[in-house]
Amino acid sequence: MNFILNRLAEVRWSSGSCGNLGCSDPECVCALCAQPIGIPEDDPRRKDHDDECCGCPICDDDVPIILFRGEGKAMKQAAFHHKCFEKVLAK
Ligand SMILES: [Zn+2]
Ligand SMILES: [Zn+2]
Ligand SMILES: [Zn+2]
Repeated sequence: MNFILNRLAEVRWSSGSCGNLGCSDPECVCALCAQPIGIPEDDPRRKDHDDECCGCPICDDDVPIILFRGEGKAMKQAAFHHKCFEKVLAK
């Protein structure tokens, strides 16, 4: 995949996240806005969530957008909220 990124300089690359939703670790938060991505698995908001819902913060950020660069041990990754990734993408 090749993207043209117009705000690449603002992206903070991480050496890897733990993969837990809603984690506030600096390595795991959004590479653009630095806020946690997704709603934690045990968050009470999930209990009332409608499985057939298709458009709310719970659904939207369940699968963050992740970019990779570099190879092997030098590989870096950047995870984004969907709305943040749209800001990074060049128009
Ligand atoms: Zn984490
Ligand atoms: Zn974000
Ligand atoms: Zn939803």
